[in-house]
Amino acid sequence: MSRRAKTGTCTYCHQHRPLTRDHIPPRSLFPKIPPDKLITVPACKPCNEGFQKDDDYFWLNISLREPHHGDHEHATDAAQRALQHLNRPAATGARQALLDNTERTPVYTTMGLYAGTRLAYNTDLDRLSKTANRIITGLYYHTTKKRLQPPYTAKSRALDGFTTDDNHDLQTLLSIVNPQPITTIGDIFAYQYHLLTDDLQASIWLLTFYQTTTFIGTTLKQQDHTW
Ligand SMILES: [Zn+2]
Repeated sequence: MSRRAKTGTCTYCHQHRPLTRDHIPPRSLFPKIPPDKLITVPACKPCNEGFQKDDDYFWLNISLREPHHGDHEHATDAAQRALQHLNRPAATGARQALLDNTERTPVYTTMGLYAGTRLAYNTDLDRLSKTANRIITGLYYHTTKKRLQPPYTAKSRALDGFTTDDNHDLQTLLSIVNPQPITTIGDIFAYQYHLLTDDLQASIWLLTFYQTTTFIGTTLKQQDHTW
């Protein structure tokens, strides 16, 4: 006997529809974490299913990125699974796209010393940001119990994506969000946030995956986003 899905308001599209549970961040990042430790938010089926391709892209890319601080067990494990995923016959297109974007890039240590070259994946950071934006929208609901209402939207960027020119905005945001408490799920995901007191839907978010890739994001009125 199948259970009828509860009907309610979707966190993302705000439509009143039968609801599913959307995992934020995507479930594929947490193979060994018990389900009750993961965060879910109510989402309609079209939204939930619509995220699948971007979620796969996100997981493959984040897990294959080089750790900044030595080896990271979970990233290595996820990279193994990602590579197995790419070796499925159905994944030929994805595998080719990955190889086409792989090139030798110079590596510098944190002290700025040249450390040879490595294979680096030239990631489409904009596409990764789409998933990070959704995670922020979900976390906003998870932490405030309120849906982010239009015209407010979540926008994010990977810290690697900043140039020296826009570095100033970044430093300002980081100085606000960095001192906030950190919530972690295993050592796979960590987030911090700050809600502005004079603008109830405005907030700043910092998301870190596998201790290697960090996104900074804001919830603002669509026209106020500067990125
Ligand atoms: Zn929806």
